[in-house]
This record gives sequence, structure tokens and C-alpha cells, in this order.
Amino acid sequence: MSSNSVYSRLGVRPIINAASWRSGVSGSLMPDAVVKAMAEASRSYVDIYELNRKAGEVIAKLTGAEAGMVTAGASAAMLLEAAACIAGKDPAKISRLPDTEGMKNEIIIHHAHRIGYEINFRAAGAKLVMIGDTHHTTEWMLESAINDRTAAVAYVIGPRPGGALPMPEVVRISHSRGVPVIVDAASMLPPPENLTRFVAMGPDLVCFSGGKGVRGPQSSGILCGKKEFIEAATLNASPYAAIGRPAKVSKEEIVGLVTALELFVDTDFDALTRKWLSMAEYIASEVAKVPGLTAVAEPGEPEHLEFDTTLPRVVVKRDSSKHRLSTDDLVDRMASGDPSIRVVNKLFTGGFFISPVTLQDGEPEIIVRRIREIMTAR
Ligand SMILES: *Cc1c(COP(=O)(O)O)cnc(C)c1O
Repeated sequence: MSSNSVYSRLGVRPIINAASWRSGVSGSLMPDAVVKAMAEASRSYVDIYELNRKAGEVIAKLTGAEAGMVTAGASAAMLLEAAACIAGKDPAKISRLPDTEGMKNEIIIHHAHRIGYEINFRAAGAKLVMIGDTHHTTEWMLESAINDRTAAVAYVIGPRPGGALPMPEVVRISHSRGVPVIVDAASMLPPPENLTRFVAMGPDLVCFSGGKGVRGPQSSGILCGKKEFIEAATLNASPYAAIGRPAKVSKEEIVGLVTALELFVDTDFDALTRKWLSMAEYIASEVAKVPGLTAVAEPGEPEHLEFDTTLPRVVVKRDSSKHRLSTDDLVDRMASGDPSIRVVNKLFTGGFFISPVTLQDGEPEIIVRRIREIMTAR
């Protein structure tokens, strides 16, 4: 956190983001090289079709997919995934979205994968067909849900309660019936290995956020996959007057995302993860000394472990002894203080968690001091 006149001019105070790369706390901070590349991009006109194509080639190379494109966040990528499967490259269908009457318009999705972002598929006119529950889904449930109105099967990789079929099974069953598979892996970067990992499982389209762990522009995203499908997604996107037009990506954002992605794959995440873990351990050991609280540094997020994502975090809970403040009160007071400190309340934990991945130098100490102050105030 630093003093910043562009924000103070608007009367906005910067916050300490201990809540990771979430949209509500403004995503990530772009590396200087990304900001510089964006400023440079802003000084010349280009043919946006050509820029899209060349950026797509970089994405294809780094993801191992046949083709790629820059989108306005993973959400826009999901909208384009749906549009590509429903309208394809047919100009008549493209111009009719989100009216999909008479088209193949059903997208099958695991109940366990309904975490809210499926609204992006519906925005293209898809009708969602739910399978399974949060405990289990069987192959026959997927098989029997596929019919001649099925446009795609969606698969979400990320924090979720579980109960979905493994992705390779979903790809096998769907492809055996001629149905494409579209994947939302928005928050699965880092580690960089995940850029190629899900693509290699054979789905038709995969998307990632560009504004989370990749540290591109907050509004950017990555869509990659089979050439046919990327071509269809492109025709449904800006600069065409199509369903994706409200999700335009600027030349500066395209250049920023590509620059961030190239830096991202060159980053030593093992070293970075060790640094994040040691920050988490420091915070946990200090917070654990505060009366009324327990704190544990976890090496990875358990809900991500299926995919080996190892983002450390600190889980803070009330201990059994009586204290007049609830963890909700504590979280509220951290947010309303000066500086405002934002943590993640109640995500799977029963307490709150502090993420070190977005913390800057000096901030772990400020957080610890503030928690101690709030809990010991009389
Ligand atoms: C963050 C997220 C999204 C949305 O990504 P944006 O790039 O912010 O549009 C979609 N799905 C999941 C699982 C996410 O975590």
C-alpha cells in the first residue's frame, strides 16, 4: 500500500489487500513491465484483428492449445465459450444471440460447479441443465442429460465442495457423443503448469483470469483451445457487433495481458511460494499469541489440493475461551480501520483467512499489530 494521488483526488483510500486476487479488492497489482508495455501500446494505432491474432499465437504457444485469444476476464471468456458452442460461426445465429430459440442451446453443468459464474453462459442465451449433487455425480447422469439440444458440457476447476466427475471422464463421455467441453479454470494460476495441464486433458475450450495470479490487467482473461472453437469465439467477440461486443478488450489490455503472461511463465513460483508461506507462518505465529484467537498457516488451500495449487494462507478462528468480539466483528473492525485491511471471511473455514499472496512489504506487521489492538482494546 502506498500513498497515491490519483486515488486521493477521488477521495479513495488504498487498502491492505489480504484477501488474494479477488475482484472486489481490485485483483492484482500489475508488474511495472506490464504497465510500461501498456503505456507503449497506447501510443500507436494498430489493426486490432492482427493484434488479436498475434496475441492468440502467444497464448497458444504458452498453453499448448491450438489457438487462443485475449478476453475481458474469464467471465467474458465463458460467455464466448457458450456463444462459440451455440452459434458457432453462423452469422445468422451469431446475430440472434442471446435469443437461442430453435438452436442447440443447452449447457450441461455439474450441480457442484454452480458457484455463480455460470451466469456468464446464460448471458449468451444458454439454458443450463444440472447434473448430480455436491456429494456425487455418476456417468449415467451425464450420459442421460446429453440430447440433441446439447450445445456443450461445462466444467469448472476451482474451489468447490466436490462431487463432480473427473474431467477426463467428462471429456471422454461428451466427445463420444459429439458434444464439446468448455472449461472455467479462472483462478487456477499459479502454478504456471496449470496453463497446459487442463488443455492437455482434451477439452475444446479453457479459460483463465488474466487479472488474478497472472497479474495482467484486472479486466483481462485468456481463452484457449481448439482452432475451430477459437475462430467461432472470435466471431462472437468485439470488434464485431455480436454478443461479446460489451466485453471489448483494448489494445493496451491485449498487450498488457501478453506481457504479464510471458513474465508469469518465467516466474519462480517455488521460491515465491516459500516466501508466501514464511509470511503466513509469521502472521500465524503472531496472531496465535493474541488472546481469544487461534491461527494456523496452511501451505495450500485444501479445496484446491486436487490440482496441487499451493497458495499458502492463514486460517484465523476464535478459540473456545470467551471473548466479547466475534470473528465477524473482528473482520468488520479490520475493514473499517485506517488503513482498511481486507481479509476473506468464512470461506470454507468457519473463521476467516488472510492471504499473503497480495501483501506488500511491511503489511504483515501492520496486520498483526491491528489484530492485536482490536482484540485487546478495552
Ligand atoms: C474469478 C473467477 C471467475 C471470473 O473471472 P474474471 O476474470 O474475474 O471474469 C470465474 N470463475 C471462477 C472459478 C473464478 O474464480
